[in-house]
Amino acid sequence: MTEQVFDLVIVGSGSGNTIPDERFDDRSIAIIDKGQANGAYGGTCLNVGCIPTKMFVWPADVADEAREAGPVGVDADVTRTRWPDIRNRVFGRIDRYAAGGLRYRVQDCPNITVFQQEGWFLPAPASGPADGLHRLELADGTVVAGRDVVLAAGSRAVIPPVIADSGVPFHTNDTIMRLEDLPGRVIVVGSGYIAAEFTHVFAGLGAEVTVVARGPRLLRSQDDTISELFTSVASERWDVRLGTEVTGARTVGDGVEVDLTDGSTVTGDVLLVATGRTPNGDTLATSAIGIELEDGRVPVDEHQRTPVRGVWALGDVSSPYLLKHVANHEARVVQENLLAGWDTPSATTDHRYVPGAVFTRPQVASVGLTEARARAQGIDVAVAEQRYADIAYGWAMDEPEGVCKLIADRATGLLVGAHIVGYQASALIQSAITAMSFSIPAREFARGQYWIHPALPELVENALLGVSEDR
Ligand SMILES: Cc1cc2nc3c(=O)[nH]c(=O)nc-3n(C[C@H](O)[C@H](O)[C@H](O)COP(=O)(O)OP(=O)(O)OC[C@H]3O[C@@H](n4cnc5c(N)ncnc54)[C@H](O)[C@@H]3O)c2cc1C
Repeated sequence: MTEQVFDLVIVGSGSGNTIPDERFDDRSIAIIDKGQANGAYGGTCLNVGCIPTKMFVWPADVADEAREAGPVGVDADVTRTRWPDIRNRVFGRIDRYAAGGLRYRVQDCPNITVFQQEGWFLPAPASGPADGLHRLELADGTVVAGRDVVLAAGSRAVIPPVIADSGVPFHTNDTIMRLEDLPGRVIVVGSGYIAAEFTHVFAGLGAEVTVVARGPRLLRSQDDTISELFTSVASERWDVRLGTEVTGARTVGDGVEVDLTDGSTVTGDVLLVATGRTPNGDTLATSAIGIELEDGRVPVDEHQRTPVRGVWALGDVSSPYLLKHVANHEARVVQENLLAGWDTPSATTDHRYVPGAVFTRPQVASVGLTEARARAQGIDVAVAEQRYADIAYGWAMDEPEGVCKLIADRATGLLVGAHIVGYQASALIQSAITAMSFSIPAREFARGQYWIHPALPELVENALLGVSEDR
């Protein structure tokens, strides 16, 4: 076994790769990453997550917009979508970017060594390693030791045993975007945001999609109003089987057939499993150095320190939020604290108002508490709902279904939650995030600035006024 010693070892090339900047030039650094399904460098968001999915969502949006323009007087047919061209546009850019990122680290960063392998901890005494070095073994037997270690190992898709054990070919987000051609029929198992985004992609590009959802609604972690509205709109667009689970699966010709708990059988050309993700902490053998996972996550304090001195963690492997902007924020906290030192951390993680968006159709975005959670916390809530259909730009778009729901604390006038379903919800939510992050009361935020008339943000302005009047 050869051992190589570094000042800093980072496991994971997603958000972990953003840590070494010029302030770390005097430290020797190892970055360990086993790569994505195609071996690519740079983590989930870049290669198989946020970015490629949204690059597929956009053409699906464009196709849907064209198909559905009849009510505003435009009759358009989408005669064809060119999946191979769409896929090549996405990965032509992404693969080049990922390769460039790796090349930069290998060729242009003399203090950084990249190990493209899986790594896991070697056992250390409970009192900590005598020489202060944490040791990881790599798949080829190399041992990489570091005084500081950052765990940024992300998460992976969970596959229900009934599908994993069936032997049928299935896809996850790791592979589905690389298909050779647009399948005619897609079965999507799952009811969360990844399932909703891929369903929109395939349906928008022209496939028939069946969604198999275990629960009574889609996007169940959203506020009830939003989840109910989204489920009802989605059920009109797609073949949504609520309250059903897969009980069996088999290969039929070139496709797949799945049996559902309601007694029905669904046939598809491809099967996509999007039933949740689990942190990768279990692949790191953290217990060998005394870190026990909590709910599958590597535990960290508000400075991203694990219980073991010198070991830090960030992103999906440790965070309750599996979101890239959260992983990026936590990476910045680790970065600052690595520079400041273990005993004198200078940066603290802020998880107060974590927003998220679902880039499906219609879009969904949220920040803060749902109404049910706010009430459960004993907050005396004021609630307002503003429909797109009742603002001028909503008239222009003939947008029938969208809504902005704001929840405020009557005692303070501050927003505690904001939820939007509808066109560009992911962009519109930002003003609510601002109001919450900077503790600006709803009325002051609505009346203390201009809102361009007749633009879509009037949706939020009116909801702010509504929630203020409800006090
Ligand atoms: C389909 C999809 C769409 C998404 N869309 C969005 C979105 O729109 N917005 C958003 O905010 N978030 C989105 N996310 C979530 C986002 O991608 C993740 O939260 C984020 O990428 C996590 O970053 P990370 O740095 O924690 O881990 P990652 O970027 O996953 O990096 C971890 C790396 O560690 C490597 N690794 C793991 N274990 C080991 C090991 N033992 N040894 C060596 N290497 C290892 C992995 O190969 C991986 O490259 C999406 C996720 C998916 C799957």
